[in-house]
Amino acid sequence: MASTLEIKNLRVKIEDKEILKGINLTLKEGEIHAIMGPNGSGKSTLAYTIMGHPKYEIIEGDILLNGESILEWTPDERARAGMFLGFQHPQSISGVTLSSLLRTAMIVRDEERRPPNIIKFTKELRALAKDLNMRTELTERYVNEGFSGGERKKNEVLQMLVLKPRFAFLDEPDSGLDVDALRDVAKGINRLHEETNAGIMLITHYQRILHYVQPTRLTILKDGLIVKTGGPELAEEIEKEGYESITGE
Ligand code: ADP
Ligand code: MG
Repeated sequence: MASTLEIKNLRVKIEDKEILKGINLTLKEGEIHAIMGPNGSGKSTLAYTIMGHPKYEIIEGDILLNGESILEWTPDERARAGMFLGFQHPQSISGVTLSSLLRTAMIVRDEERRPPNIIKFTKELRALAKDLNMRTELTERYVNEGFSGGERKKNEVLQMLVLKPRFAFLDEPDSGLDVDALRDVAKGINRLHEETNAGIMLITHYQRILHYVQPTRLTILKDGLIVKTGGPELAEEIEKEGYESITGE
C-alpha cells in the first residue's frame, strides 16, 4: 500500500498567535505537491509542525502517517519513520562534518542494519556531491560552516539523497539560488523522486523552480489558509495570470 501523509483541519499557533487556521491536505508517495504562498503565509510553520518542532502549538486537527496520528511522536521518531525536512535557512554545526553527521544519522535510523562501510559510504557521498556540482571536499568540512547560501541549499538536498526519505518537506530549496544552482537542486529533487518514489512537499515562493520540477499538485497558501488547490494545470494558470493575481497579493 502506498504511504500517505494526511493533514486534517490543522490549526497551529505560536506565542498565542494563530498562524495556520485549518489546513487540509494529503501527500501520497510518488506525489510532488508544490505549496506556494506569500511571505508570512505559514509555509515554514506547516513544514516545522509536520516535523514536530516543539515551538508550534497545535490547537486543533491531526497529522496522520498511514492512518496513524503522529502528533505525539518526537521529531526523531518522525525522521526514523522516513520523514525529512529541508530547512529554509540551514544552520551550521561546528565540530561535526557532514560525512560523520550522515553516517551517524544512518546508523541511528537503521538500528538493525550494520553501519555503512566508510570507504563505500565516502565514495557514494562524494559522487552525489559531484552530481550536485558541489565541491566534494565540503563533505569533510563542518556542516555548513563557511558555506555560501547556494552550498547550504545543495547540502540539504545532498542529505536528503543520502537518507532517502519516504516523505521530504523542502522549505524553499530554491530561495537565493542562481539559475545553475537552481538546476542542480531541481535535479537532486527529481532524482530522489525517480529513484525512490518519495512523496515530496515542495514549498516555494517563486514559480521558477516549477520549470524544473513538475508538481503533480499545487496548493496556494495565504494567511494560514489554503486559497486554491489544483493539478498541474494550476501551474500553467499561475504562469499566465501571475501568482499575485490568484492570491490577490
Ligand atoms: P512563510 O514561511 O510562509 O513565510 P512563516 O510560517 O515563517 O511563513 O510565518 C507565518 C507567520 O508566523 C508570520 O506572520 C510570522 O511572523 C509568524 N511567525 C513565524 N515564526 C514565528 C516565531 N518564532 N515567533 C512569532 N511569530 C512567528
Ligand atoms: Mg518560510
